[in-house]
Amino acid sequence: MAQKYTIAAMAMELMESLLLRKRATVLYPVERLTPPERFRGRLRYDPEACNLCGLCQRDCPADVINVVRKRVEKEDGTKELTGHLEFEMDRCIFCGQCSHSCNSNAITFTREFELAQPDRELFMMKSGGPEVDEGECDADPDVSP
Ligand code: SF4
Ligand code: SF4
Repeated sequence: MAQKYTIAAMAMELMESLLLRKRATVLYPVERLTPPERFRGRLRYDPEACNLCGLCQRDCPADVINVVRKRVEKEDGTKELTGHLEFEMDRCIFCGQCSHSCNSNAITFTREFELAQPDRELFMMKSGGPEVDEGECDADPDVSP
C-alpha cells in the first residue's frame, strides 16, 4: 500500500513538473523564434565585392559553387576579367566554409531559414557578374580552382 502511494505521489509530482515546465517548442508557423545572430540561413552573395578568385569553389565540400570566368578585351586594348558565380543551393549543407574562405566578404549568411522549394531549379542561384581589372585578380581564368 505504501509503495502504491509512493508511485502515485511520484506520478503526481511528474505531472506537476511537466505542466509547470516552460515549453521548449513554439506553435510554428503561428509563432516564430528569431534565430541566433550567427545562424547560417539563406546565403547572400555580393557580386560587387567578389574578385572571382575561386577560393569559395575550391573549398566548398559539397561542390555547390561554380565560378565562371572569361577574359574580355576592352576598347583601349587592356584585358578585363569578368564572370559570375553559380550556386546549386540544393546541395548546400550550410557549413559556412565559403564565407570563411572568401577574403572579400562577398558571401554572407542571412537568418532566413524557410528555404524549401517544390522544384530543384528554384535552388539555382546565378549572380550578375563582377568586372575585375586584370591587376586585381590573381586567378588564372583558364584553371579551375
Ligand atoms: S555553406 Fe558550405 S556547402 Fe554551402 S556553399 Fe558554402 S561551402 Fe558550400
Ligand atoms: S571566394 Fe569570395 S571573392 Fe573569391 S570567388 Fe568566391 S565569392 Fe568571389
